[in-house]
Amino acid sequence: MDSPTLAACALLGRTDEQRAYQAALRGFCDRDIAPHAAAVDRGERSLWESYRALGRAGLLAPAYPEALGGGGGDLTMVAIFMAELSRACAATALSCGASTLLGGMTVLRFGTDAQRARWLPVIARGDAVACLGLTEPGAGSDVMSVATRATRDGDGWVLRGAKTFITNAAVADLHIIVAVTGESAGRRTHGMFLVEKGTPGLTVGAPMRKLGMRGSPTSEVFLEDCRVPAAAVLGDPTQGFAQVIFPLNHERAMAPAMALGILEGCLERCIRYAKERVQFGKPIAAFQAVQFKLARLRADMVLLTALLKDVIAGIEAGRDMRVEIAAGKAFAGEAAVQGALEAIQVFGGYGYIEEFEVERALRDAKLLELGAGTTEIQLRIIARTLLGDLVG
Ligand SMILES: Cc1cc2nc3c(=O)[nH]c(=O)nc-3n(C[C@H](O)[C@H](O)[C@H](O)COP(=O)(O)OP(=O)(O)OC[C@H]3O[C@@H](n4cnc5c(N)ncnc54)[C@H](O)[C@@H]3O)c2cc1C
Repeated sequence: MDSPTLAACALLGRTDEQRAYQAALRGFCDRDIAPHAAAVDRGERSLWESYRALGRAGLLAPAYPEALGGGGGDLTMVAIFMAELSRACAATALSCGASTLLGGMTVLRFGTDAQRARWLPVIARGDAVACLGLTEPGAGSDVMSVATRATRDGDGWVLRGAKTFITNAAVADLHIIVAVTGESAGRRTHGMFLVEKGTPGLTVGAPMRKLGMRGSPTSEVFLEDCRVPAAAVLGDPTQGFAQVIFPLNHERAMAPAMALGILEGCLERCIRYAKERVQFGKPIAAFQAVQFKLARLRADMVLLTALLKDVIAGIEAGRDMRVEIAAGKAFAGEAAVQGALEAIQVFGGYGYIEEFEVERALRDAKLLELGAGTTEIQLRIIARTLLGDLVG
């Protein structure tokens, strides 16, 4: 796909390294990912082929340290990664992000040297897949009600419980499981545990059939007397919730990047189609009603880019960005869903047909309003900063 708009171009300006990474990734996506996105959506091709190829090409882990197989880059590189992949195939972006960011970056942030050395190089090469298991059947938005328990047993721990909606669980080599570890000062404590594929007691349900992001597997995870060694504890076994905020915040912070990519994919298709499709003796691009839809898509991309840059700068400067991240996540979901709907409208009846690839954008975009905390939960985070304990 040639692009007159370059979603991530505003992000590119900062360094030569970021520009070079974006150009290499875009070339890879146009050649090896976008042409297969429809087949991935239909379940005719596995996105793990792209995952491995991205790893082989050195593009999968732009922000891991070079010594651990990564690109040694920063959060802007991660945003470029999520935007470019989402432009080509949002399901591939979701699964790559769940593995390398939710999984790998969490190990990088809280892991011991041994845990980092064990997992980061293999993830960066595309040889291992990770997932993060937080959500449970009874603990969705209310994550504090997680019921999976980790009980000390000799020098190890035994995990019991169930997780649901876990991206990549069906194929994951590494499950990062959040579990209750005890109680301190009347409050439950939580820990994070590294559970390897094949550990007795760890089983995974069949991938769920979904509205969108169909190529990205989502499954339940069951932990029945699942024994792990002491070395499986990630970080502090009493600070699991403080720790899980780290990957959650990064996932939420990257939602505008996913929206940006999805909208750019839509806009490129719309521009091409609007120039080609003739009605009333003119290309439909000559009609102002159509022009404004394209302009609105581009306007939202400008806002998403600005948001992303602001959030990244704040995180890198160590500022409290809770409100900005929540606002960005809420805006990203709405912009992606509304933008995909408008793109379908530009295509008319053809927009409703799979072959034209904008209906997939709508189905994929909807997840941005649900996953990693729904839009309502993002608004609740903001309301809390305004009203304190009045917000329950
Ligand atoms: C495709 C997919 C992939 C996912 N991947 C992962 C993953 O890899 N790891 C993981 O741990 N989880 C994952 N999730 C889970 C996701 O984060 C949860 O679905 C999400 O947090 C919402 O939880 P819930 O589905 O239980 O909805 P619920 O919490 O039951 O919410 C239902 C409705 O009630 C609203 N609501 C709830 N509480 C409030 C409140 N206090 N105020 C206002 N409204 C409220 C919600 O906004 C929503 O509209 C994934 C989900 C999906 C669909």
